[in-house]
Amino acid sequence: MEAPQAPKQMYNEFTLASITHLSSSSSPPTLSPVARFCSDSGFSELRFEQGHEPVNFNLQKTQLFKLGPTESLCILEGSETVKETIYSRGITIQFRNKEESTSFHYAFDQCKKEVNAQGSNLPNGTALESKSKFDDKIEASSAKMYFHYYGQLLHQQNMMQDYVRTGSYYAAVIENRADFAGRVVVDVGAGSGILSLFAAQAGAKHVYAVEASEMAEYARKLIAGNPLLSQKITVIKGKVEDVELPEKADILISEPMGTLLINERMLESYVIARDRFLVPNGKMFPTLGRIHMAPFSDEYLYIEIANKALFWQQQNYYGVDLTALHGTAFQGYFSQPVVDAFDPRLLVAPAISHVINFTTVKEEDLYEINVPLKYTSPVGTRIHGLACWFDVLFDGSTVQRWLTTAPGAPTTHWYQLRCVLSQPLYVMPGQEIVGHLHMIAHSAQSYTINLTMSVKMWGPGAEQGGILQTSSCKLDLKEPYYRMSQPQAYSLTQDQQPQQLLQTQDIHIQPDDEVSELMQQAMKDPVSVLH
Ligand code: SAH
Repeated sequence: MEAPQAPKQMYNEFTLASITHLSSSSSPPTLSPVARFCSDSGFSELRFEQGHEPVNFNLQKTQLFKLGPTESLCILEGSETVKETIYSRGITIQFRNKEESTSFHYAFDQCKKEVNAQGSNLPNGTALESKSKFDDKIEASSAKMYFHYYGQLLHQQNMMQDYVRTGSYYAAVIENRADFAGRVVVDVGAGSGILSLFAAQAGAKHVYAVEASEMAEYARKLIAGNPLLSQKITVIKGKVEDVELPEKADILISEPMGTLLINERMLESYVIARDRFLVPNGKMFPTLGRIHMAPFSDEYLYIEIANKALFWQQQNYYGVDLTALHGTAFQGYFSQPVVDAFDPRLLVAPAISHVINFTTVKEEDLYEINVPLKYTSPVGTRIHGLACWFDVLFDGSTVQRWLTTAPGAPTTHWYQLRCVLSQPLYVMPGQEIVGHLHMIAHSAQSYTINLTMSVKMWGPGAEQGGILQTSSCKLDLKEPYYRMSQPQAYSLTQDQQPQQLLQTQDIHIQPDDEVSELMQQAMKDPVSVLH
């Protein structure tokens, strides 16, 4: 059984203009007083320090009252135990300005909330929490792993080091100062607090940095380490679905994009934050997102995936016939979307786009997204599936800026995503490809993807619109195959074999039976399979 955890680290530190002990008559000391939220003694306290002995207020028994815009009263309720009597105590606090007073009150409320949540811990260590909109649709085990992941600095660093991503956000904010200067900003899923700091740099009046994971503690530390900006930022630990803010925001900033834009289902939290915190017609950075989809032809990738199941074609594995599971393994590998950076010349036709306007989309609209597909192949080739990527727009008043994850553009930590068909499709020049990309949200913060692609009749009689060949697959966006460790076919083919990857119609293999033969050929001479 795990003991209920007290907050481990200092919550926040506030320099005050002055404090007055209600019961003290000593002359005022010369040092600036500091108020600290901490838990050094095992329970959460508010500590006032001013050169001499600190005065500690047990948060569970402390109340805070606003006396004026920059003045507050902090009262510790006395208590009697068998052994001793603790008398009530009071301190009036004078803040240096209104913003700091607001920040202090919010830090106080948040710490109180955390203390109360710990107070409701059950003896077996599980916490009784009121169910929120987030908890209603997301499995607790998924959320736990998700916020554990984002609570680690290395993962925040990974995102911060994606210079295409972070640089685009920085440029979008700084080039659109007018949208931030003097405005109230909410950072939805603040992580390390980096976007809050950008907003403060752009002159925000106040930024509320909402972060659900333990990263909130580090964000407080990082922000405190930037004293010129820290006065403008209040970190609030909690989910945007649950926390309360003291005022409405003029603009939201967030980085809620996952693989294929929608993975992690954080767009829904972004939209909920919009409905809860944003003034009517307020701005959102990013403003909209687009998913782009195009058919691709990539013989190497197809063979690589099909080959993974070859293990199960062994008839004598320590005397055991494994072939009964070959079909299952084969389908299993094709149910993983492939994440890597590919050469845009693998695309067979111009992409189709699906737009999600974050300022207007309803949260429920993100539960199920169905995109009809329609392309005309300009070449004869084998289609191995659908390649997808996304971009987002920062629709600033001064500058419109796009952040793109397109193939051929500088690579981001999102790379691109490809859904690979276990049965490739053959197309002739001018032939139409139709289908659907159907994405259904699931409770593990991701989506089930159903892809169907069909080749329409071609040549004489095509106007009747019949389907010649259909291929479909079901994938789990939560379980991608990260292909980045592979030798980069991208750079090999980029300069040496332009167009060859698009001219593979003369290869004729059946995925299940002839794959091993093709693999052997590919291993002997990898380039020849492309001709
Ligand atoms: N804004 C940071 C971090 C982006 S990652 C940056 O741009 O670098 C997304 C962050 O949102 C994670 O830290 C995650 O813990 C947080 N998050 C996700 N869903 C949330 C929710 N519903 N409420 C609050 N925070 C959330």
